[in-house]
Amino acid sequence: MGAVYVALVHHPVRDKTGEIVTTAITNFDVHDIARSARTYDLAGYFVITPIEAQHVLLGRILAHWGKDGAGTKRVPPRAEALSIVEPARSIEEVVATLRDRHGQPPRVVATAARSTGITLRSFADEAHAIASTDAPTLLLFGTGHGLTEAVLEGADALLLPVRPGGYNHLSVRAAVAIILDRLFGDHRFHSGAVDGSEGGC
Ligand code: SAM
Repeated sequence: MGAVYVALVHHPVRDKTGEIVTTAITNFDVHDIARSARTYDLAGYFVITPIEAQHVLLGRILAHWGKDGAGTKRVPPRAEALSIVEPARSIEEVVATLRDRHGQPPRVVATAARSTGITLRSFADEAHAIASTDAPTLLLFGTGHGLTEAVLEGADALLLPVRPGGYNHLSVRAAVAIILDRLFGDHRFHSGAVDGSEGGC
């Protein structure tokens, strides 16, 4: 199985009219998605924005939870989660970074609450695809009103929405956690392969 990464996209994303916009980074998204990514042993979490001032903000958050940061002294496990966060300026930059890092480009897998005309992949099929390749996988999550059609169409796969057809506008933080569990689960702990005794906070 190749390395798996999540990316939170702040541009390009849609606004409620479908226009392409750039959203702001939120502290909650950085922390909560990092904690979910670390929980499922992902290789990394890219926070994507082209806005320089937002990279300064992200840098401050990561410094606070960095090696000598005040946050790290207070809550070490949180610092461990934040340690896998990487800033990036575009999806293309992340793809190039992963190609250089792993010697082959990542499989890009998009997510959306809305159904589009694009063929949807089940979580079971995607879990099998991830387990069957040594290529890295990049799971894309949007902000605002979701990833653009171009990003969805340009991806190698688009996952089924969680709970399609009903109210399925989860926060991106909740969507990441649910989808990671559907892809990777914690059956290893139930099978006794890992005792899971390590407590958390
Ligand atoms: N209407 C938007 C859409 O169609 O994706 C909802 C955007 S939601 C606030 C932000 C992101 O969370 C989405 O881009 C997607 O990555 C994820 N997300 C939200 N609800 C989801 C669902 N039901 N199934 C899969 N992903 C979802």
